[in-house]
Amino acid sequence: MSNYALLNICYVIGSLGFIIGLKMLSKPETARKGNLVAAFGMGIAIFGTIFLYEFKSDDGTTKHLGNLIWIFAGMIVGTILGTVSAKKVQMTAMPQMVSIFNGMGGLCAALIGIIEFRHVLHTIGEGSLMNGNTITIILGMIIGSVSFAGSVIAFLKLNGNLNDYSFKGQTFFNLFFLVAVFAVAGFMLNGNVESAHLMMYVVFGMACIYGISFVMPIGGADMPVVISLLNSFTGVAAAFGGFLYHNQVMLTGGILVGAAGTLLTILMCKAMNRSLLNVIIGSFGGGSATAITGEGGGTIKEISVGDAAINMSYSKKVIIVPGYGLAVAQAQHICHELEKQLEEKGVEVKYAIHPVAGRMPGHMNVLLAEADVSYDKLLEMDAANDEFATTDVVLILGANDVVNPAAKTNPASPIYGMPILEVEKAKTVIVNKRSMNKGYAGIDNELFYGNKTRMLFGDAKKMLGELVNEVKAN
Ligand code: NDP
Repeated sequence: MSNYALLNICYVIGSLGFIIGLKMLSKPETARKGNLVAAFGMGIAIFGTIFLYEFKSDDGTTKHLGNLIWIFAGMIVGTILGTVSAKKVQMTAMPQMVSIFNGMGGLCAALIGIIEFRHVLHTIGEGSLMNGNTITIILGMIIGSVSFAGSVIAFLKLNGNLNDYSFKGQTFFNLFFLVAVFAVAGFMLNGNVESAHLMMYVVFGMACIYGISFVMPIGGADMPVVISLLNSFTGVAAAFGGFLYHNQVMLTGGILVGAAGTLLTILMCKAMNRSLLNVIIGSFGGGSATAITGEGGGTIKEISVGDAAINMSYSKKVIIVPGYGLAVAQAQHICHELEKQLEEKGVEVKYAIHPVAGRMPGHMNVLLAEADVSYDKLLEMDAANDEFATTDVVLILGANDVVNPAAKTNPASPIYGMPILEVEKAKTVIVNKRSMNKGYAGIDNELFYGNKTRMLFGDAKKMLGELVNEVKAN
Protein backbone atom coordinates (compact mmCIF):
# COMPACT_ATOMS: atom_id res chain seq x y z
CA MET A 1 0.00 0.00 0.00
CA SER A 2 1.33 3.45 -0.87
CA ASN A 3 2.27 5.99 1.79
CA TYR A 4 -0.50 8.25 0.45
CA ALA A 5 -3.15 5.55 1.02
CA LEU A 6 -1.76 4.78 4.49
CA LEU A 7 -1.79 8.48 5.38
CA ASN A 8 -5.43 8.74 4.33
CA ILE A 9 -6.26 5.76 6.56
CA CYS A 10 -4.54 7.61 9.43
CA TYR A 11 -6.70 10.65 8.70
CA VAL A 12 -9.87 8.57 8.66
CA ILE A 13 -8.88 7.08 12.05
CA GLY A 14 -8.09 10.59 13.32
CA SER A 15 -11.44 11.99 12.17
CA LEU A 16 -13.39 9.02 13.53
CA GLY A 17 -11.53 9.22 16.86
CA PHE A 18 -12.42 12.89 17.09
CA ILE A 19 -16.11 12.36 16.27
CA ILE A 20 -16.51 9.34 18.60
CA GLY A 21 -14.51 11.09 21.34
CA LEU A 22 -16.68 14.19 21.11
CA LYS A 23 -19.83 12.06 21.34
CA MET A 24 -18.45 10.27 24.42
CA LEU A 25 -17.62 13.62 26.04
CA SER A 26 -21.33 14.43 26.23
CA LYS A 27 -21.89 11.91 29.08
CA PRO A 28 -20.01 12.04 32.39
CA GLU A 29 -19.64 8.22 32.46
CA THR A 30 -17.78 8.13 29.14
CA ALA A 31 -16.15 11.59 29.09
CA ARG A 32 -12.68 10.51 30.28
CA LYS A 33 -12.50 7.66 27.78
CA GLY A 34 -13.82 9.99 25.06
CA ASN A 35 -10.93 12.35 25.70
CA LEU A 36 -8.46 9.48 25.31
CA VAL A 37 -10.15 8.18 22.14
CA ALA A 38 -9.97 11.65 20.52
CA ALA A 39 -6.33 12.11 21.63
CA PHE A 40 -5.43 8.67 20.26
CA GLY A 41 -7.03 9.50 16.89
CA MET A 42 -5.20 12.82 16.73
CA GLY A 43 -1.93 11.10 17.69
CA ILE A 44 -2.31 8.71 14.74
CA ALA A 45 -3.05 11.64 12.39
CA ILE A 46 -0.03 13.63 13.66
CA PHE A 47 2.46 10.75 13.45
CA GLY A 48 1.00 9.71 10.09
CA THR A 49 1.67 13.22 8.76
CA ILE A 50 5.19 13.29 10.15
CA PHE A 51 6.27 9.93 8.73
CA LEU A 52 4.04 9.31 5.71
CA TYR A 53 3.45 12.70 4.11
CA GLU A 54 5.27 13.06 0.78
CA PHE A 55 5.69 15.99 -1.55
CA LYS A 56 7.54 16.78 -4.78
CA SER A 57 10.55 19.03 -4.27
CA ASP A 58 11.75 21.59 -6.85
CA ASP A 59 14.09 19.03 -8.46
CA GLY A 60 11.16 16.63 -8.97
CA THR A 61 12.16 14.07 -6.32
CA THR A 62 9.71 12.79 -3.70
CA LYS A 63 10.51 14.04 -0.21
CA HIS A 64 9.29 13.50 3.37
CA LEU A 65 8.87 16.20 6.01
CA GLY A 66 12.16 17.69 7.21
CA ASN A 67 12.95 19.54 10.45
CA LEU A 68 12.10 16.42 12.47
CA ILE A 69 14.31 17.53 15.36
CA TRP A 70 12.41 20.83 15.60
CA ILE A 71 9.06 19.06 15.30
CA PHE A 72 9.83 16.54 18.05
CA ALA A 73 11.48 19.17 20.29
CA GLY A 74 8.31 21.29 19.99
CA MET A 75 6.10 18.29 20.71
CA ILE A 76 8.12 17.32 23.78
CA VAL A 77 8.09 20.88 25.20
CA GLY A 78 4.36 21.19 24.47
CA THR A 79 3.57 17.80 26.03
CA ILE A 80 5.50 18.65 29.20
CA LEU A 81 3.90 22.10 29.53
CA GLY A 82 0.41 20.71 28.84
CA THR A 83 0.75 17.79 31.23
CA VAL A 84 2.18 19.83 34.10
CA SER A 85 -0.40 22.61 33.78
CA ALA A 86 -3.31 20.15 33.45
CA LYS A 87 -2.15 18.28 36.57
CA LYS A 88 -1.60 21.44 38.61
CA VAL A 89 -4.70 23.40 37.63
CA GLN A 90 -7.38 23.95 40.28
CA MET A 91 -10.97 23.21 39.29
CA THR A 92 -11.82 26.89 39.75
CA ALA A 93 -9.05 27.88 37.34
CA MET A 94 -10.25 25.61 34.51
CA PRO A 95 -11.77 28.46 32.46
CA GLN A 96 -8.36 30.22 32.44
CA MET A 97 -6.64 27.07 31.26
CA VAL A 98 -9.18 26.41 28.53
CA SER A 99 -8.77 30.01 27.47
CA ILE A 100 -4.98 29.96 27.16
CA PHE A 101 -4.99 26.56 25.40
CA ASN A 102 -7.56 27.93 22.98
CA GLY A 103 -5.37 30.99 22.44
CA MET A 104 -2.50 28.71 21.45
CA GLY A 105 -4.77 27.06 18.86
CA GLY A 106 -5.63 30.50 17.48
CA LEU A 107 -1.95 31.43 17.35
CA CYS A 108 -1.17 28.23 15.41
CA ALA A 109 -3.84 29.10 12.85
CA ALA A 110 -2.47 32.66 12.59
CA LEU A 111 1.11 31.41 12.15
CA ILE A 112 0.00 28.94 9.47
CA GLY A 113 -1.59 31.90 7.67
CA ILE A 114 1.58 34.03 7.93
CA ILE A 115 3.91 31.22 6.79
CA GLU A 116 1.71 30.12 3.91
CA PHE A 117 1.12 33.68 2.71
CA ARG A 118 4.88 34.32 2.73
CA HIS A 119 5.27 31.11 0.73
CA VAL A 120 2.71 32.37 -1.81
CA LEU A 121 4.50 35.73 -2.04
CA HIS A 122 7.79 33.99 -2.78
CA THR A 123 6.37 31.68 -5.46
CA ILE A 124 3.63 33.66 -7.17
CA GLY A 125 5.82 35.75 -9.47
CA GLU A 126 3.79 38.42 -11.29
CA GLY A 127 0.35 36.78 -10.84
CA SER A 128 -2.60 38.36 -9.01
CA LEU A 129 -2.68 37.89 -5.25
CA MET A 130 -6.46 37.68 -5.13
CA ASN A 131 -7.51 34.05 -5.48
CA GLY A 132 -9.31 31.35 -3.48
CA ASN A 133 -6.08 30.10 -1.94
CA THR A 134 -4.91 33.48 -0.58
CA ILE A 135 -8.42 34.41 0.62
CA THR A 136 -8.51 31.15 2.61
CA ILE A 137 -5.05 31.85 4.04
CA ILE A 138 -5.87 35.42 5.10
CA LEU A 139 -9.28 34.54 6.55
CA GLY A 140 -7.69 31.77 8.64
CA MET A 141 -4.98 34.19 9.78
CA ILE A 142 -7.45 36.94 10.76
CA ILE A 143 -9.80 34.63 12.67
CA GLY A 144 -6.88 32.84 14.36
CA SER A 145 -5.31 36.18 15.40
CA VAL A 146 -8.60 37.46 16.88
CA SER A 147 -8.99 34.21 18.79
CA PHE A 148 -5.38 34.30 20.00
CA ALA A 149 -5.41 37.92 21.23
CA GLY A 150 -8.94 37.65 22.68
CA SER A 151 -8.09 34.44 24.54
CA VAL A 152 -4.95 35.97 26.07
CA ILE A 153 -7.03 38.91 27.35
CA ALA A 154 -9.69 36.48 28.66
CA PHE A 155 -6.96 34.51 30.44
CA LEU A 156 -5.49 37.63 32.05
CA LYS A 157 -8.92 38.84 33.17
CA LEU A 158 -9.91 35.50 34.67
CA ASN A 159 -6.53 35.27 36.36
CA GLY A 160 -7.13 38.64 38.00
CA ASN A 161 -4.29 40.38 36.10
CA LEU A 162 -6.56 42.67 34.09
CA ASN A 163 -9.77 44.60 34.80
CA ASP A 164 -12.62 45.19 32.36
CA TYR A 165 -11.96 48.27 30.29
CA SER A 166 -14.34 50.11 28.01
CA PHE A 167 -14.77 53.55 26.57
CA LYS A 168 -17.77 55.40 25.18
CA GLY A 169 -18.68 54.20 21.73
CA GLN A 170 -16.47 51.12 21.94
CA THR A 171 -19.09 48.90 20.30
CA PHE A 172 -19.09 51.15 17.22
CA PHE A 173 -15.31 51.42 17.31
CA ASN A 174 -15.05 47.62 17.33
CA LEU A 175 -17.47 47.27 14.46
CA PHE A 176 -15.62 49.92 12.46
CA PHE A 177 -12.25 48.34 13.25
CA LEU A 178 -13.46 44.89 12.18
CA VAL A 179 -14.56 46.30 8.82
CA ALA A 180 -11.17 48.06 8.58
CA VAL A 181 -9.28 44.75 9.13
CA PHE A 182 -11.09 43.15 6.18
CA ALA A 183 -10.77 46.29 4.07
CA VAL A 184 -6.98 46.41 4.58
CA ALA A 185 -6.76 42.68 3.84
CA GLY A 186 -8.76 43.18 0.62
CA PHE A 187 -6.53 46.14 -0.33
CA MET A 188 -3.46 43.97 0.27
CA LEU A 189 -4.75 41.14 -1.95
CA ASN A 190 -5.51 43.65 -4.70
CA GLY A 191 -2.04 45.22 -4.42
CA ASN A 192 1.40 44.05 -5.46
CA VAL A 193 3.69 41.39 -3.97
CA GLU A 194 6.24 43.85 -2.53
CA SER A 195 3.76 45.80 -0.40
CA ALA A 196 1.99 42.59 0.66
CA HIS A 197 5.11 41.47 2.54
CA LEU A 198 4.64 44.30 5.03
CA MET A 199 0.86 44.58 4.88
CA MET A 200 0.45 40.98 5.95
CA TYR A 201 1.91 41.93 9.35
CA VAL A 202 -0.31 45.04 9.46
CA VAL A 203 -3.38 42.82 8.97
CA PHE A 204 -2.11 40.40 11.64
CA GLY A 205 -1.52 43.31 14.08
CA MET A 206 -4.93 44.85 13.36
CA ALA A 207 -6.70 41.52 13.88
CA CYS A 208 -4.90 41.15 17.24
CA ILE A 209 -5.95 44.69 18.25
CA TYR A 210 -9.53 43.84 17.30
CA GLY A 211 -9.35 40.66 19.46
CA ILE A 212 -8.12 42.72 22.43
CA SER A 213 -10.70 45.47 21.95
CA PHE A 214 -13.48 42.89 21.49
CA VAL A 215 -12.80 41.12 24.81
CA MET A 216 -11.61 44.05 26.98
CA PRO A 217 -15.06 45.52 27.80
CA ILE A 218 -16.86 42.24 28.42
CA GLY A 219 -17.80 41.69 32.09
CA GLY A 220 -15.14 39.50 33.72
CA ALA A 221 -17.72 36.97 34.80
CA ASP A 222 -19.05 36.61 31.25
CA MET A 223 -15.72 35.24 30.18
CA PRO A 224 -16.79 31.55 29.97
CA VAL A 225 -19.32 32.45 27.26
CA VAL A 226 -16.70 34.49 25.42
CA ILE A 227 -14.13 31.69 25.72
CA SER A 228 -16.59 29.29 24.18
CA LEU A 229 -17.16 31.78 21.33
CA LEU A 230 -13.40 32.24 20.82
CA ASN A 231 -13.08 28.46 20.85
CA SER A 232 -15.45 28.27 17.91
CA PHE A 233 -13.34 30.95 16.12
CA THR A 234 -10.24 28.79 16.56
CA GLY A 235 -12.14 25.81 15.12
CA VAL A 236 -13.16 27.84 12.06
CA ALA A 237 -9.57 29.11 11.62
CA ALA A 238 -8.28 25.50 11.78
CA ALA A 239 -10.91 24.46 9.23
CA PHE A 240 -9.52 27.11 6.85
CA GLY A 241 -6.12 25.41 7.35
CA GLY A 242 -7.77 22.12 6.38
CA PHE A 243 -9.05 23.66 3.13
CA LEU A 244 -5.63 25.08 2.44
CA TYR A 245 -3.73 21.83 2.87
CA HIS A 246 -6.55 19.61 1.53
CA ASN A 247 -6.24 17.90 4.89
CA GLN A 248 -9.43 16.05 5.88
CA VAL A 249 -8.57 15.59 9.55
CA MET A 250 -7.79 19.27 10.06
CA LEU A 251 -11.00 20.15 8.27
CA THR A 252 -13.11 17.70 10.30
CA GLY A 253 -11.48 18.76 13.58
CA GLY A 254 -11.87 22.46 12.78
CA ILE A 255 -15.51 22.13 11.77
CA LEU A 256 -16.35 20.05 14.86
CA VAL A 257 -14.61 22.49 17.22
CA GLY A 258 -16.26 25.42 15.44
CA ALA A 259 -19.71 23.84 15.60
CA ALA A 260 -19.33 22.57 19.18
CA GLY A 261 -18.10 26.00 20.36
CA THR A 262 -21.01 27.74 18.66
CA LEU A 263 -23.56 25.31 20.11
CA LEU A 264 -22.07 25.64 23.58
CA THR A 265 -22.15 29.44 23.33
CA ILE A 266 -25.83 29.32 22.34
CA LEU A 267 -26.68 26.83 25.12
CA MET A 268 -24.91 28.93 27.77
CA CYS A 269 -26.73 32.07 26.64
CA LYS A 270 -30.03 30.17 26.62
CA ALA A 271 -29.47 28.78 30.12
CA MET A 272 -28.83 32.34 31.35
CA ASN A 273 -31.75 33.64 29.25
CA ARG A 274 -29.50 36.22 27.60
CA SER A 275 -28.68 37.00 24.02
CA LEU A 276 -25.12 36.74 22.75
CA LEU A 277 -25.27 40.46 21.94
CA ASN A 278 -26.14 41.17 25.57
CA VAL A 279 -23.12 39.13 26.69
CA ILE A 280 -20.84 40.95 24.26
CA ILE A 281 -22.00 44.52 24.82
CA GLY A 282 -23.64 44.30 28.26
CA SER A 283 -21.48 44.47 31.36
CA PHE A 284 -23.44 41.84 33.29
CA GLY A 285 -21.46 40.45 36.18
CA GLY A 286 -18.89 43.17 35.77
CA GLY A 287 -20.15 44.96 38.84
CA SER A 288 -22.65 47.28 37.19
CA ALA A 289 -25.76 45.11 37.41
CA THR A 290 -28.61 46.68 39.35
CA ALA A 291 -28.85 45.34 42.87
CA ILE A 292 -32.31 44.25 43.93
CA THR A 293 -32.90 44.35 47.62
CA GLY A 294 -34.71 41.70 49.56
CA GLU A 295 -38.41 41.99 50.16
CA GLY A 296 -39.18 44.40 52.97
CA GLY A 297 -35.52 44.99 53.76
CA GLY A 298 -35.27 41.30 54.60
CA THR A 299 -34.68 39.48 57.86
CA ILE A 300 -32.74 36.29 57.74
CA LYS A 301 -32.95 33.30 60.08
CA GLU A 302 -29.79 31.41 60.94
CA ILE A 303 -29.48 27.74 61.87
CA SER A 304 -26.77 26.05 63.91
CA VAL A 305 -24.75 23.14 62.54
CA GLY A 306 -26.31 20.85 65.14
CA ASP A 307 -29.88 21.77 64.20
CA ALA A 308 -29.09 21.48 60.48
CA ALA A 309 -27.64 18.00 61.07
CA ILE A 310 -30.70 16.87 63.07
CA ASN A 311 -33.01 18.29 60.41
CA MET A 312 -31.30 16.31 57.68
CA SER A 313 -30.73 13.12 59.69
CA TYR A 314 -34.47 12.81 60.36
CA SER A 315 -35.51 13.59 56.79
CA LYS A 316 -36.77 11.11 54.20
CA LYS A 317 -35.28 12.99 51.28
CA VAL A 318 -32.50 15.59 51.06
CA ILE A 319 -31.50 17.32 47.83
CA ILE A 320 -28.12 19.04 47.70
CA VAL A 321 -27.76 22.04 45.37
CA PRO A 322 -24.08 22.66 44.58
CA GLY A 323 -22.92 26.03 43.24
CA TYR A 324 -19.81 28.02 42.50
CA GLY A 325 -18.96 28.34 46.23
CA LEU A 326 -18.61 24.54 46.53
CA ALA A 327 -15.95 24.65 43.80
CA VAL A 328 -14.20 27.61 45.47
CA ALA A 329 -14.13 25.77 48.80
CA GLN A 330 -13.05 22.50 47.11
CA ALA A 331 -15.62 20.81 49.33
CA GLN A 332 -16.77 18.10 46.91
CA HIS A 333 -15.16 15.20 48.81
CA ILE A 334 -16.57 16.15 52.18
CA CYS A 335 -19.93 16.74 50.50
CA HIS A 336 -19.85 13.13 49.24
CA GLU A 337 -19.00 12.06 52.80
CA LEU A 338 -22.11 13.85 54.11
CA GLU A 339 -24.20 12.10 51.46
CA LYS A 340 -22.86 8.69 52.61
CA GLN A 341 -23.47 9.47 56.29
CA LEU A 342 -27.05 10.54 55.59
CA GLU A 343 -27.69 7.44 53.50
CA GLU A 344 -26.46 5.26 56.34
CA LYS A 345 -29.27 6.80 58.35
CA GLY A 346 -31.77 5.83 55.64
CA VAL A 347 -32.08 9.28 54.08
CA GLU A 348 -32.44 9.43 50.30
CA VAL A 349 -29.88 11.93 48.97
CA LYS A 350 -29.79 13.46 45.48
CA TYR A 351 -28.08 16.41 43.82
CA ALA A 352 -29.85 19.09 41.74
CA ILE A 353 -27.63 20.35 38.93
CA HIS A 354 -28.37 23.67 37.27
CA PRO A 355 -26.88 23.89 33.75
CA VAL A 356 -24.95 27.09 34.53
CA ALA A 357 -24.08 26.48 38.18
CA GLY A 358 -20.42 27.31 38.71
CA ARG A 359 -18.38 29.08 36.10
CA MET A 360 -18.18 26.70 33.17
CA PRO A 361 -20.53 24.25 31.50
CA GLY A 362 -20.66 20.97 33.37
CA HIS A 363 -18.68 22.50 36.27
CA MET A 364 -20.74 20.77 38.97
CA ASN A 365 -20.80 17.42 37.15
CA VAL A 366 -17.00 17.43 36.88
CA LEU A 367 -16.62 18.54 40.48
CA LEU A 368 -18.89 15.81 41.87
CA ALA A 369 -17.42 13.17 39.54
CA GLU A 370 -14.00 13.99 41.01
CA ALA A 371 -15.42 13.01 44.42
CA ASP A 372 -16.91 9.77 43.00
CA VAL A 373 -20.51 10.86 43.48
CA SER A 374 -22.64 8.36 41.58
CA TYR A 375 -24.04 9.78 38.31
CA ASP A 376 -27.50 8.38 38.96
CA LYS A 377 -27.82 10.70 41.97
CA LEU A 378 -27.55 13.79 39.76
CA LEU A 379 -30.87 15.34 38.79
CA GLU A 380 -31.05 17.74 35.87
CA MET A 381 -32.95 20.98 36.49
CA ASP A 382 -36.40 19.93 35.27
CA ALA A 383 -36.28 16.58 37.09
CA ALA A 384 -35.12 18.33 40.27
CA ASN A 385 -37.91 20.90 40.04
CA ASP A 386 -40.41 18.02 39.92
CA GLU A 387 -38.90 16.49 43.06
CA PHE A 388 -38.52 19.53 45.34
CA ALA A 389 -42.17 19.41 46.47
CA THR A 390 -41.56 15.96 48.00
CA THR A 391 -38.22 16.93 49.56
CA ASP A 392 -37.77 17.55 53.28
CA VAL A 393 -34.52 19.51 53.19
CA VAL A 394 -32.73 21.26 50.35
CA LEU A 395 -29.11 21.97 51.26
CA ILE A 396 -27.66 24.76 49.11
CA LEU A 397 -23.87 24.76 49.03
CA GLY A 398 -22.35 27.96 47.64
CA ALA A 399 -25.10 28.48 45.05
CA ASN A 400 -26.86 31.81 44.69
CA ASP A 401 -28.06 32.99 41.26
CA VAL A 402 -29.25 29.53 40.19
CA VAL A 403 -31.77 29.48 43.08
CA ASN A 404 -32.77 33.16 42.94
CA PRO A 405 -36.59 33.48 42.64
CA ALA A 406 -36.16 36.97 41.13
CA ALA A 407 -35.58 35.12 37.84
CA LYS A 408 -39.29 34.23 37.94
CA THR A 409 -40.82 37.09 39.89
CA ASN A 410 -38.93 40.32 39.15
CA PRO A 411 -39.05 41.57 35.54
CA ALA A 412 -36.52 44.28 36.45
CA SER A 413 -33.93 41.70 37.49
CA PRO A 414 -30.99 41.11 35.15
CA ILE A 415 -31.61 37.37 35.49
CA TYR A 416 -35.36 37.58 34.82
CA GLY A 417 -36.39 34.67 32.61
CA MET A 418 -33.40 32.47 33.47
CA PRO A 419 -34.74 29.02 34.44
CA ILE A 420 -33.87 28.33 38.08
CA LEU A 421 -33.99 25.52 40.63
CA GLU A 422 -37.30 26.02 42.46
CA VAL A 423 -35.93 25.04 45.86
CA GLU A 424 -38.58 27.01 47.76
CA LYS A 425 -41.03 24.16 47.00
CA ALA A 426 -39.23 21.98 49.58
CA LYS A 427 -40.23 21.89 53.27
CA THR A 428 -36.97 23.47 54.50
CA VAL A 429 -34.14 25.20 52.67
CA ILE A 430 -30.72 25.40 54.32
CA VAL A 431 -28.32 27.81 52.60
CA ASN A 432 -24.61 27.55 53.23
CA LYS A 433 -22.44 30.50 52.17
CA ARG A 434 -19.92 32.67 53.97
CA SER A 435 -21.83 35.96 54.12
CA MET A 436 -24.71 37.83 52.48
CA ASN A 437 -22.44 38.59 49.52
CA LYS A 438 -23.96 38.47 46.07
CA GLY A 439 -23.24 35.89 43.39
CA TYR A 440 -22.10 36.28 39.81
CA ALA A 441 -25.01 38.46 38.69
CA GLY A 442 -24.36 40.93 41.53
CA ILE A 443 -27.94 40.90 42.82
CA ASP A 444 -29.64 40.21 46.13
CA ASN A 445 -31.51 36.94 46.63
CA GLU A 446 -34.96 36.94 48.24
CA LEU A 447 -34.71 33.24 48.92
CA PHE A 448 -32.36 34.00 51.82
CA TYR A 449 -35.14 36.01 53.54
CA GLY A 450 -37.84 33.39 52.95
CA ASN A 451 -39.89 31.79 55.76
CA LYS A 452 -38.64 28.30 55.04
CA THR A 453 -35.00 29.36 54.65
CA ARG A 454 -32.30 28.95 57.27
CA MET A 455 -28.82 30.40 56.72
CA LEU A 456 -25.77 28.36 57.71
CA PHE A 457 -22.87 30.79 57.41
CA GLY A 458 -19.29 29.62 56.88
CA ASP A 459 -16.88 28.20 54.36
CA ALA A 460 -18.51 25.19 52.64
CA LYS A 461 -15.64 22.79 53.40
CA LYS A 462 -15.50 23.74 57.08
CA MET A 463 -19.27 23.65 57.56
CA LEU A 464 -19.63 20.32 55.77
CA GLY A 465 -16.89 18.85 57.99
CA GLU A 466 -18.84 19.94 61.05
CA LEU A 467 -22.12 18.68 59.58
CA VAL A 468 -20.59 15.24 58.93
CA ASN A 469 -19.44 15.01 62.57
CA GLU A 470 -22.84 16.07 63.87
CA VAL A 471 -24.72 13.64 61.60
CA LYS A 472 -22.43 10.83 62.78
CA ALA A 473 -23.14 11.78 66.41
CA ASN A 474 -26.94 11.74 65.94
P1 NDP B 1 -23.06 32.37 42.21
O1 NDP B 1 -21.86 32.98 41.60
O2 NDP B 1 -24.36 32.97 41.91
O3 NDP B 1 -22.91 32.35 43.80
C1 NDP B 1 -21.86 31.69 44.42
C2 NDP B 1 -21.99 31.92 45.90
O4 NDP B 1 -21.01 31.09 46.53
C3 NDP B 1 -21.70 33.33 46.33
O5 NDP B 1 -22.89 34.02 46.66
C4 NDP B 1 -20.74 33.19 47.51
O6 NDP B 1 -21.29 33.86 48.65
C5 NDP B 1 -20.68 31.69 47.76
N1 NDP B 1 -19.33 31.22 48.11
C6 NDP B 1 -18.15 31.62 47.60
N2 NDP B 1 -17.14 30.98 48.19
C7 NDP B 1 -17.69 30.16 49.12
C8 NDP B 1 -17.16 29.24 50.06
N3 NDP B 1 -15.84 29.05 50.18
N4 NDP B 1 -18.01 28.55 50.84
C9 NDP B 1 -19.35 28.74 50.73
N5 NDP B 1 -19.91 29.60 49.87
C10 NDP B 1 -19.09 30.30 49.06
O7 NDP B 1 -23.01 30.83 41.82
P2 NDP B 1 -24.09 29.88 41.16
O8 NDP B 1 -23.37 28.59 40.94
O9 NDP B 1 -25.36 29.89 41.92
O10 NDP B 1 -24.42 30.55 39.77
C11 NDP B 1 -23.49 30.59 38.70
C12 NDP B 1 -23.57 31.93 38.02
O11 NDP B 1 -22.49 31.99 37.07
C13 NDP B 1 -24.87 32.14 37.27
O12 NDP B 1 -25.27 33.48 37.36
C14 NDP B 1 -24.47 31.82 35.83
O13 NDP B 1 -25.27 32.48 34.88
C15 NDP B 1 -23.03 32.33 35.81
N6 NDP B 1 -22.23 31.73 34.76
C16 NDP B 1 -22.10 30.39 34.68
C17 NDP B 1 -21.42 29.83 33.65
C18 NDP B 1 -21.35 28.36 33.50
O14 NDP B 1 -21.05 27.90 32.39
N7 NDP B 1 -21.57 27.59 34.55
C19 NDP B 1 -20.73 30.65 32.64
C20 NDP B 1 -20.87 32.06 32.86
C21 NDP B 1 -21.59 32.55 33.89
P3 NDP B 1 -20.33 34.31 49.88
O15 NDP B 1 -19.26 35.17 49.28
O16 NDP B 1 -21.24 35.00 50.80
O17 NDP B 1 -19.77 33.04 50.45
